[in-house]
Amino acid sequence: MTDLRAWVGCWACYSEGRLVGDWFDLTEAVPTVEQVHRRGLDPADHSIDVAEHEELGAFDLDGDLALFTDTIGESLATAARVTQVIGGIEADHLAPFAAFAASDTAPVDAALVEQFKAAYVGAFESVRDFGIDHCMELTGWDSLPEGVRQSLGDYIDWAQVGQGYLDADYDSTWIGQALHVWHLQ
Ligand SMILES: [Zn+2]
Repeated sequence: MTDLRAWVGCWACYSEGRLVGDWFDLTEAVPTVEQVHRRGLDPADHSIDVAEHEELGAFDLDGDLALFTDTIGESLATAARVTQVIGGIEADHLAPFAAFAASDTAPVDAALVEQFKAAYVGAFESVRDFGIDHCMELTGWDSLPEGVRQSLGDYIDWAQVGQGYLDADYDSTWIGQALHVWHLQ
């Protein structure tokens, strides 16, 4: 897993026209207001009363956290929660999980990870591949006698079969060259 980093900044400073913040690794701990100002501000600058600067934001995201931009927005609390939760997800599944999380209004937490694991079908090169690899079994194709499959095989449009299943019971998204598919909740 790559670093799960966020550029954490102070909203009060920001609204006063100063960009105060720095990159922090959220797998360690969520930075405090003091830490953000210590790192992001000239130590000689005593013009800011940090006590009045309470709200921090995730101004930018790096590494795998950037996959969750839609879900996190600029919320440091959400960025911290996503960081905790996605440690248990294998690297290949992070991008589809991010898409899954973004398509849902539920908070990103351990329960959502379990939901995703239960719903995720896999990655396919095309809708046709999804039709062949996944839907063939659902249609009972494998249970047909060999001779029947041979004579019918040429007439079946597996892309259409795959699309039919996708439209009815699944959600999917293209990430790079792969079509990631999961069961509708
Ligand atoms: Zn500040």
